[in-house]
Amino acid sequence: MIEERLRKDTQHEIKAVCVVHNETSTGMTSNIAAVRKAIDAAKHPALLLVDSVSGLGSADYEHDKWGADVTVSGSQKGLMLPPGIGFNALSPKAIEASKHSKIPKAYLAWDEILESNKTGYWPTTPSTNLMYGLHEAIDMMQTEGLDTIFARHQRLAEACRRAVAAWDLENQCLDPNAYSPVLTAIVVPEGMDADVLRKHALEKFNLSLGIGLGKLKGKIFRIGHLGDCNELSLMATLSGVEMSFGSIGYKPKASGVVVAQEHLK
Ligand SMILES: *Cc1c(COP(=O)(O)O)cnc(C)c1O
Repeated sequence: MIEERLRKDTQHEIKAVCVVHNETSTGMTSNIAAVRKAIDAAKHPALLLVDSVSGLGSADYEHDKWGADVTVSGSQKGLMLPPGIGFNALSPKAIEASKHSKIPKAYLAWDEILESNKTGYWPTTPSTNLMYGLHEAIDMMQTEGLDTIFARHQRLAEACRRAVAAWDLENQCLDPNAYSPVLTAIVVPEGMDADVLRKHALEKFNLSLGIGLGKLKGKIFRIGHLGDCNELSLMATLSGVEMSFGSIGYKPKASGVVVAQEHLK
């Protein structure tokens, strides 16, 4: 569809294709390399801009290899830090485009920071406390190893999906190729309000489940299994969900906890 749309744009009015790497409100991933191929196949000059705020550090991502022009990310998801640092990875083509763009910009202008970066400095005071945190997070990630981290996310995600199936609930993402290793969005059955379930989980068990956003409000809840998450943190979450089912009178087909345990042991 992207290729087709770009082919029709013979005047090159489209400046950029914007894609979310890991879509956090629905628990889906996009095939970034395939989007690049579509842009190239259409021989279109549009830039490829990728949001990997929740993907970076949890799902495999290759800014250069996959041909992204700009990738944005943040400190607050897979990097296990509080919010406060934003990252931009830029291709030479993106830097060139920013030099010629006529959109007024200050905060989002790159020239000053690119200049300072040459010497390892910033044009403004950086968030030094978070920089120390980032240093530690990267140390932790290098110790565990990126491949091990990605495999851990896949394993926890699979355990979570098996629990969902045991509960006889549906994953919001229906395409197995697009399953997110970062989080799982779970559709509740007709007649159940996901927010009531979430309220019970929070009030009784101090368990904070992700909310359904926009048109999915009340229809889904989300389980995050990213960053600093291991088998027991996932199992605790699944137990909390199952116990909350009890408080709202939902009787799942089978125990998701038992099925997830089987997968993780
Ligand atoms: C969390 C998240 C954001 C929001 O990041 P902010 O720092 O709050 O702007 C954007 N995109 C995705 C995919 C996210 O998961």
